[in-house]
Amino acid sequence: MHIQDILRAHRTTFSFEFFPPKSQEGFDELFGTIARLQELKPSFVSVTYGAGGGTREKTHDLIVRIQRETDLTAVSHLTCVNHSEAELVAIFDRYAASGIENVLALRGDPPRTLLDYDPKNDAFAYAAGLVKFIRSRTNLPDARGFGIGVAGFPEGHPSTPNRLEEMDHLKAKIDAGADYICTQLFFENRDFYDFRERCELAGIGVPIIAGIMPISSRSGMTRMAGLALGARFPARLLKAVDRCADEESVNRVGIHWATEQCRDLLDNGVRGIHFYTLNRSDATRQIYQNLGVKDSAALRAGCGPIDRLQLETAWSSEKPFIP
Ligand code: FAD
Repeated sequence: MHIQDILRAHRTTFSFEFFPPKSQEGFDELFGTIARLQELKPSFVSVTYGAGGGTREKTHDLIVRIQRETDLTAVSHLTCVNHSEAELVAIFDRYAASGIENVLALRGDPPRTLLDYDPKNDAFAYAAGLVKFIRSRTNLPDARGFGIGVAGFPEGHPSTPNRLEEMDHLKAKIDAGADYICTQLFFENRDFYDFRERCELAGIGVPIIAGIMPISSRSGMTRMAGLALGARFPARLLKAVDRCADEESVNRVGIHWATEQCRDLLDNGVRGIHFYTLNRSDATRQIYQNLGVKDSAALRAGCGPIDRLQLETAWSSEKPFIP
């Protein structure tokens, strides 16, 4: 099933992200996590792709195993960095043969560990080129081809300081055929609402799914800050972490903060929440518990009825969808 069909059918989606473990042991452990998270009835799950190349095969293997062993709809992340057009053609032929229908089309970051990496060999310099390429692939039972999501950055992407230009680049991905946007994690909901409004101003009408990741440790926060992506920690959150006596308390503060973010997003008509699980189930399950629900269906029930007409109109018209 295409993610856009799920987004059409549900007022709000709830999805979980995993990364492919390196070892067989890690794979088996992850399947325990996926089994526990399946009880929360996610709308779909997604699996990340290593732009550097080390775990690329494993993304495909994990997606295929999820499809074979669970009832979950899975989205494969794919980066165009370090891929020639011939490689991308082979990847999509394989996806079609494996029944993979949904892709999150990304540029990826130039791999620092590959010393001989030369961007001139890449088929596409930006994700918009990859989206256009995927749209041209129609070797699937579904005549629409692949379902395509793209990344969005509520705090801005570091390579494009000009935020107006950044929206033009995001719009190019939608114009090339992307169905929805999934955002980078953020800790301040105002950044998300501002991003959503800027999308609306830019004429971007596709659903926007909010990326949420609870902090779990001080070292994790330091790592995120170093990545310079999705790392604007509000002073209130920093103060709350500062007060913590130990790492267990930091974890609790992180889950509480993420719960409050989710509650506020749901109250403000978010189209979807994507949990960066880091291959663990505890934090996500705890957030559901804190919200007082046993699964995504119960969470969705509290989001109000679906206005089918509004959803359909928003999808088919040029007008942006205002939740
Ligand atoms: P693009 O949309 O290509 O944008 C990259 C930068 O280039 C932006 O600053 C943009 O404004 C600029 N730009 C775009 N077009 C042009 C143009 N024509 N001229 C000049 N500048 C332009 N990374 C992975 O390696 N693997 C993953 O699995 C993965 N999953 C992710 C999932 C989500 C939900 C998100 C938000 C990010 C993920 N990333 C992943 C990280 C992502 O690959 C990087 O953040 C990357 O730097 C940006 O990718 P993009 O697809 O947004 O690229």
